[in-house]
Parts: sequence; structure tokens; C-alpha cells
Amino acid sequence: MSLLNQKTLKNSVEFEGIGLHSGKLVKLSIKPSEPDTGIVFKRIDLKNNNLVYPNYLNVSNTSLNTTISNDFGVKVSTIEHLMCALFSLGIDNALIEIDNEEVPILDGSAKEFIEKILIADFTISNKPIKIIKINKKVEFKNGEKFISIEPSKLSLDIEFELKYKNKIIGNQKNKINVYNDELKDILNSRTFCLYEDIEMIKKNGLAKGGSLDNAIVVKDENILNEDGLRNSKEFVNHKILDCIGDLFTTGYRIIGHVKCSQGGHYLTNQMLRKVFKNTDNFSIIEIQERNLPHTIINRSILRSIA
Ligand SMILES: [Zn+2]
Repeated sequence: MSLLNQKTLKNSVEFEGIGLHSGKLVKLSIKPSEPDTGIVFKRIDLKNNNLVYPNYLNVSNTSLNTTISNDFGVKVSTIEHLMCALFSLGIDNALIEIDNEEVPILDGSAKEFIEKILIADFTISNKPIKIIKINKKVEFKNGEKFISIEPSKLSLDIEFELKYKNKIIGNQKNKINVYNDELKDILNSRTFCLYEDIEMIKKNGLAKGGSLDNAIVVKDENILNEDGLRNSKEFVNHKILDCIGDLFTTGYRIIGHVKCSQGGHYLTNQMLRKVFKNTDNFSIIEIQERNLPHTIINRSILRSIA
């Protein structure tokens, strides 16, 4: 039994909550599935054409969330925090049944997903995992915003910076090694917005379920949430959480070094599309534990993040 073999949940796990953008109550269960099936979403409120695959090519909307759609226009939105939880726990295969179109936001981070999946425990198969190794630097720019991915030895490093005029958020930077670092502060970090943007966000039909229970709201130099921040870099840490979740739309673990300034779901998706357009940019390796040091799986997270 190897941690570098494909992993699924031992038991099903269930969540109930509202969608951040739809405001609708939704039930979601994550069920064990067979090796080589990957992560699959199933809209159980629909009888036909109800499977949606969280692949970067199926990303159909990146406005304040990552939405995936299938060829029949069936959608699942706000998948990124759940995808980050699955990636961080090293879960390769799972069936996610959902009875509405948006994944519940829960507390706005990946914390509750992680805690419950850890209790559900894991089953490790005898099939090896696959890893995408980045061979060439690929960059995507949009004005001042940019994201790039370049080769790294054995790690997935993510370097992220935010530049906000708001003084509380300001210029926040962090760099993490996804497979080696303690990820608690990343996975516990909540989504956030500026108080002055709320009206415009709601006008666009988004954040109908948004509240201080599932998002940090910053008004001038104050944080409106009673208990303040969970960690000193919660804003940039949440952006890293989003980035990890969006990177998992590749379907595999990744060896590479991501650098991003002021990016988000759109930039990450555009970068992935660019990477996979040219087979010189990457290779997919199937790996057995004897071939690779243990550093490819983050072990601290298996102990707990609570
Ligand atoms: Zn997010």
C-alpha cells in the first residue's frame, strides 16, 4: 500500500449548506469511486446528461467562482474550495453528488470539507497516481495581472501576491510548497470582499448567499467579522487556496512553480489552457513510490488541520 497510489474515500460524507452566489440550499455527498475515474460531479436533481467533469476545458465561467459545464449546458459552480480540499488530501477519485447547481460555501474556506473527509478516512488502491510535470515556462498576462508556471524539481510551489488600495488588504504576499508545508492557514482562509463592492456584486446576480458567516468583509480599515481574521495573511492565503483548487482541474497532481500577481480563477484557467495546448510544455508521469521521495504527498495534512 502506497500513498503514491490512487486514493478515494473509505466512507461517503455529506454536506448541506447554501450556495454563495445562488443563495440556494444544497445537499452534496462525496462518495468513494474506482481507480482511474477521477473526480466526477453528478447533478442528482437531473435525470439525464447529469455528469459534469471538473476539467479546465469545461470551465465555463470564472466570475468570482469557477463554474464547470458539460456539453448539455448542465453546470456546477463554485467548485474551487472543494477541489482544493480534494487536491490537498491527495484524493484522486470521488463521485460528488449534488442536488443543485452550486457547491455549498460552508464557512467560505476548505476547512469543513477537509475535517469531514478526514473523518470519512481513505482507501488506497493498487493503481499508481499520475503526475503532470511542467517542462517549459508558460505565462498568461492580463494588464498588470499575471500568472506563470515553470519547471520545479519535485515540488508544487505557489507564489502569490495581492495589490489592493485598501490598507487592510494592501500588498500581501505568500509562497508555499504545497506538498511539504503545513497547509492549515491556507485551507482555513475564507473568501473575502470589499464592503463597497457588495452592491455591484449583488447587481450582477452574485453573492445572494453571502454573509459574514461565509466571507470576510472589509470596510475601509475595518474587518466587519466579529472575530477578525483567522491568520495574518488570510486574504492572499485564500487566493492560494483558490489557485490549488483551480489547478486540480488538470485532474492530476502537478510538479511546477506557479507565480501569480493579482490573478484569480480566470488567469489560472487561461494559463492551464495554454500549458496543455503544446505537448512540449509538460509530461505526464505515472509513478511508483520506489521512484520518488515521499515529498510528493503532504503528510501533515493527513494528521489533521484542526
Ligand atoms: Zn475562493
